[in-house]
Amino acid sequence: MSSISSIPVVALVGRPNVGKSALFNRLIGDDTAIVSEEAGTTRDRHFARCEWQGRAFWLVDTGGLVEDSDLPMDVAIKRQVQQAIAEADLMLLTLDAKAGLHPSDARIVDMLRNSRKPWLIVANKVDDPKSTDYFEFFNLGAGDVVPVSAANGKNSGDLLDQIIEKLPEHAEEPGPEVLRVAVIGRPNVGKSSFINRLLGEDRLVVSDVAGTTRDSIDTPFTYHQRPFIFVDTAGLRRQSKIDDGVEFYSSLRTRRAIERSDICILMIDAVEGLHNQDLKIATMAWDSGRGMIIVVNKWDLKEKDDKTAAKFEKECVEKAPYLKWVPFLFTSAITGQRVTKVLDLLLEVEAERNKRITTSEVNDALQELLARRQPPQAAGHEVKLNFATQVETAPPAIVVLGNHPALVQEHYIRYLHNGFRERWGFTGNPLRVLMRQKG
Ligand code: GDP
Repeated sequence: MSSISSIPVVALVGRPNVGKSALFNRLIGDDTAIVSEEAGTTRDRHFARCEWQGRAFWLVDTGGLVEDSDLPMDVAIKRQVQQAIAEADLMLLTLDAKAGLHPSDARIVDMLRNSRKPWLIVANKVDDPKSTDYFEFFNLGAGDVVPVSAANGKNSGDLLDQIIEKLPEHAEEPGPEVLRVAVIGRPNVGKSSFINRLLGEDRLVVSDVAGTTRDSIDTPFTYHQRPFIFVDTAGLRRQSKIDDGVEFYSSLRTRRAIERSDICILMIDAVEGLHNQDLKIATMAWDSGRGMIIVVNKWDLKEKDDKTAAKFEKECVEKAPYLKWVPFLFTSAITGQRVTKVLDLLLEVEAERNKRITTSEVNDALQELLARRQPPQAAGHEVKLNFATQVETAPPAIVVLGNHPALVQEHYIRYLHNGFRERWGFTGNPLRVLMRQKG
């Protein structure tokens, strides 16, 4: 499982055509930083997860924000930098050493100075390390200037070193006994209203503490003596405040929240139903091994009878079969209907997540499933499955040993998966069923 600590965000800012995207591609390129291929954290057009000297960070290319915008250039740049300041932990002001200093560069420096966050000046297009073109950037009085060439890669390792040096320190994360919950979903489905409603409950003891990065604030609380944390509730509040034209920041925020959680509450809008975007977020959480609950909010606005909830759920499962294993809760953050039920549901999903089935039970189940339906034989080979055991919890994984694991067909693995699910549920959690060579 990936680490639950928050990974800092590094944003490239600067005027158009200074080479931000080229630098982005260079820094995430194979010859420099390693880009993680882990499910749910692979690269996007605008951000990628990098690792350098054992430290991970998200690199964000804010270029599109200026280049694709209809706003006057200065306004667009200002917005780009403001967004970066709100969202990132370190800014890389990228300047063009060939073009030299531009009046708006100094204005960006002023904004960075007022941000109280760290930044670095990067002089791009210094293709020849002996060139002195970039010396004039020292006149900005904004500290050291790191010369690089996105085109040929010169000095990109030095730049990565400097990035790591400037990154804020990791804060201590609370211990494993805390259940971390992320509320995720599209804007306006009611995430902040839901959390506010929930935290307003007398039953919960709430306190705000600073989270892992200076700007991300989590909300810890206890329920039935159990410590919980809602991760990045500050991000949620901020999301509704800032105009959310900047898709890549909200999508990055979602990924970070998923990474830091054990269980995700995916919230969808009862009136709008399950969108493709909702499914994308759900799949991101599920594939990265998180537990999941689907909260269908704004239920008060839905015209309904006694069959509406079941029908809603069925339609979702038709779109994504794995949702069959995910609990649904129909709520209204406005009236408060069923909102607190989510807490018991979280505890149930957590129990399912940590459930361990004994090896003899798993084996009995395998034998029964084999007796009912044998694995299809592959041409020239008799495919035999001998033994099964649960090798992991949180999320659960079951390994099945056989003589030709690679020849077991996908539909048969699905049959086993469903058989195990019917017995033990593991409700709200992805279950991996893996075929392995018998020793
Ligand atoms: P977020 O962007 O997901 O955090 O959504 P907000 O919590 O900001 O809610 C977006 C809008 O939907 C606000 O105007 C809320 O008052 C409204 N809203 C949220 N939950 C409900 C609900 O359960 N029922 C109704 N009718 N409105 C809701």
